[in-house]
Amino acid sequence: MKIIAYGIRKDEKPYVAKWQAEHPEVEVKIVEDLLLDETVNLAQGFDGVVAFQQAPYTDNVLATLAGYGIHYLSLRNVGVDNLNPVAVKANKIKVTNVPVYSPAAIAEFSVTQLLNLLRRTKEYFHKFERHDYRWAPEISHELNQQVVGVIGTGHIGRVAINIYKGFGAKVIAYDKFHNPELEAEGLYVDSLDELYAQATVITLHIPLFPETEHMLDQAAFAKMNDGVYIINASRGPLIDETALIEALDSGKVAGAALDVLEDETKVFNHDMAGKNMDYPEFWNLDSRENVLISPHTAFYTDVAVMNMVKQSFDANLELIQTGNSEKEVSFD
Ligand code: NAD
Repeated sequence: MKIIAYGIRKDEKPYVAKWQAEHPEVEVKIVEDLLLDETVNLAQGFDGVVAFQQAPYTDNVLATLAGYGIHYLSLRNVGVDNLNPVAVKANKIKVTNVPVYSPAAIAEFSVTQLLNLLRRTKEYFHKFERHDYRWAPEISHELNQQVVGVIGTGHIGRVAINIYKGFGAKVIAYDKFHNPELEAEGLYVDSLDELYAQATVITLHIPLFPETEHMLDQAAFAKMNDGVYIINASRGPLIDETALIEALDSGKVAGAALDVLEDETKVFNHDMAGKNMDYPEFWNLDSRENVLISPHTAFYTDVAVMNMVKQSFDANLELIQTGNSEKEVSFD
């Protein structure tokens, strides 16, 4: 059995080596290149492919894999939006993903960023850079005094709720589907409007669907408390960035931590030093002392990467051995 893994980063290599040591019967080849039209030929002769990239898996790549007799593609991430469902089905490719790799990684990061906003660390960092070591007037706020509105109580939202409770914050939550334990604790409000009216912090942990795109728009910000903090480590288009900029200008929003942006592929995962970038909203937000931008790194921990490698290789091997995997993604 032979598996080729594309786009393997330096930080993934020890986990691939560990998996290989546990599966001596499998021949594993790793390449740093992404799975592109120019590199798909490397897969010839292999039984399965493991990959992770933001770049599209082109229709030509899928057809070429099928032409080589390869029908198993295991992604080391969750998202399958860079695959064309029609081409996946036409070429009879079975695709698996890793839907849950470390909810704590994202939850802990969200909380960290809220603390950074409340304790104004960006402002102190800049003061230090100017050798200004005075503490006033940047007075902070305490997390235990906040009413944290968690939108989305799935894997990540639930871990975040537990952490917030540990800090002594009051937590309220909104989800289309109620988790029985949280329901029993009485954490749910009945509507987003109710959450907007009560929360002093709003943190997003829901997926991006057409119905959730621009969930936080001008109308939503208008319903929130003055001085609310916004945390988004979910998906950029959940927030209308123009509306957020207006809300920051007016003081409606006291601060925002954004691990994801509407147009993040223009910026994130590139070295932009000395390069021009046509993304005015990014420059506007990044220039603010009360906005923290991180390049979609909430997930990026040793535990998460280990699980992404292990679970994708396990799924690919399972496909090769049995033709099926419970991690198979439906494109219907
Ligand atoms: P999940 O599927 O376990 O939970 C999502 C929750 O959202 C579910 O409880 C669902 O009922 C709820 N939901 C869906 N649509 C809704 C709506 N319209 N209104 C209210 N609630 C709704 O997902 P998860 O693992 O907790 O991940 C949440 C999101 O985090 C993902 O969709 C992804 O966008 C994001 N994410 C970000 C990173 C990162 O590095 N920043 C990493 C992984 C995931």
